[in-house]
Amino acid sequence: MTNVCLDCGKCCLETEMILSQEDVKRIINNFKGDIEQEDFCYISRDGYLQLRNNEHHCYFFELSTKNCKIYDIRPQGCKFYPLIYDMKKNKCTLDEDCPKPYLFYPNKSEMEKTCSEIIHYLKNHLKIEL
Ligand code: SF4
Ligand code: SF4
Repeated sequence: MTNVCLDCGKCCLETEMILSQEDVKRIINNFKGDIEQEDFCYISRDGYLQLRNNEHHCYFFELSTKNCKIYDIRPQGCKFYPLIYDMKKNKCTLDEDCPKPYLFYPNKSEMEKTCSEIIHYLKNHLKIEL
């Protein structure tokens, strides 16, 4: 799979992306022992595993090329993006920080399908009560 929005990278700046245990294991396995969990994530105040920033961008973001170094194995939340779950409104929404959301979600049915996956993921993988 290729990154269809190489010229942007806004979503990888000051990331607050939450990771699942599966995300962390997949990334560590991919680096075959050349990376420690503490290198790329930390436990947030809410107790979630969260992607670490390095100089205001995600640890895995290559600033010069605006590319994700782990695109094919990126965290599940990054795959869902720019569709996110708004906890205050209790619904999925396109993140307003993304300038090209319709590259990924061209219509309502695509959004609804992924929204079901997001809700399942939040409940079953991140153990978040909605
Ligand atoms: S998903 Fe949106 S914010 Fe992220 S790189 Fe693509 S266009 Fe930019
Ligand atoms: S893992 Fe990749 S897609 Fe996700 S925030 Fe980091 S650089 Fe961006």
